[in-house]
Amino acid sequence: MHVILFLTALCVSSVGLYCGAAQAQEYRITSDFEGGNFGNVTKLSANHFAGEAETKLSEPKPMWYYFRIDGPAGNEVTVDVVNLGNIYGPRAGMKPVVSYDRKTWKRVEQTDWKSPVLSLRIPMKGRTAWVAFCFPYTYTDLRTYLQRLKDQSPSNVNVEILCRSRQGRDVFLVTITAGLEETGQKKGIWMTGRQHSGEVTGTFVLEGLIDFLVSDDPVARRMRKDFIFKVIPMVDVDGVANGCYGKDQVPKDFNRDWTKNPSIPTIQTLRTTISNWARDHSYQMFLDVHSPGACGENHIYTLPRNRCSHQYYDRQHQFMKLMEEYSPASNKIYARNYLEVRGVPGMAWVAEYTDHGVRAFIVEVTYQPTKLTGALPMSSLQEFPSPPVTILSLREYGEALCRAIGHFLGDAPHGESQETRDRPSSRHAKPTLLQPQGEMP
Ligand SMILES: [Zn+2]
Repeated sequence: MHVILFLTALCVSSVGLYCGAAQAQEYRITSDFEGGNFGNVTKLSANHFAGEAETKLSEPKPMWYYFRIDGPAGNEVTVDVVNLGNIYGPRAGMKPVVSYDRKTWKRVEQTDWKSPVLSLRIPMKGRTAWVAFCFPYTYTDLRTYLQRLKDQSPSNVNVEILCRSRQGRDVFLVTITAGLEETGQKKGIWMTGRQHSGEVTGTFVLEGLIDFLVSDDPVARRMRKDFIFKVIPMVDVDGVANGCYGKDQVPKDFNRDWTKNPSIPTIQTLRTTISNWARDHSYQMFLDVHSPGACGENHIYTLPRNRCSHQYYDRQHQFMKLMEEYSPASNKIYARNYLEVRGVPGMAWVAEYTDHGVRAFIVEVTYQPTKLTGALPMSSLQEFPSPPVTILSLREYGEALCRAIGHFLGDAPHGESQETRDRPSSRHAKPTLLQPQGEMP
């Protein structure tokens, strides 16, 4: 008996040693995990690979990639992402992120951009390295976060399932207000993120906003008392889980489906839920958080003068001034950038504005700008060195957004929304569908 056990142990240990030796000699790149995306991987030499960001949901342009490298520590592995020539604003080659434990992420320091190839040199500081387009925030991360949030603040936070996605995942609706009392006296704010599943900055920003809102900060306490926040931090959960970027996806982009008859069940439920809620609550504001194209700067989409009243137009700009005031230093210079979008049909904020007369904004939060291109008609910008975007700075931006909303709506007399429902003069006219300025959000 002892002999058999000894022999078995010897065998297992030999196999282990053999496998270990075999692993130690070769690098391997995989993406078969939640949120992973990297296809057509070819090995060019022992430590040089090429592969593609895949368009899994028939998105016309690839952008999101997320893969892992396994192999011996101590060397450097070069990975060429070969199909980024057509992505949204490749410009100067935004630096992706690398992690050795999937907790701490840093920018890849050595990159080389020669369209369409972004070449990454990854130092193997351990036996495994994860590399992603930007800081990953998966569906599992969201579930873990929401569980913790509920446990921490049971009396002020409710997490419910808004609906199930087409692939059967839960889409979550988070309500935050003091005592969970949703009275008609409180001002309501609806917020969405990850309508484009690869646009990770939105979830970090909304997480930062929520964490501030449930904190003991006196401003947060007052806001919980006066406001009701309804947040859907991850709208396209299937896209997130499958590692898709999701923008302009076929047959329908989530953000372009906010029409009278949405084709995506999640958007249909969301629209109906908001409309029903707005009937007996004071619905004041709608914010939809996105990420601009790679290297794009932070900005906010607003209505142009010919689509809203003078008062609405001025109030939009008051909100941007507040964003500038409250933004952390690294974001201050961006805070007042805005683009005026002209009547793009079916986009979330336009639909919400039209239906409910609320203040509606698309907030674009950058992955990492590298330089200003001058391509967009921003408000008085000048060339400046880019501040680093980190998970912390994104969360701080969320807190700034929350404080700006509090100040903005807190200053407004109660019931102001009735006055703002004084629609623009174009309301009764046949809508003129103009091309959007710059890139569509
Ligand atoms: Zn977007």
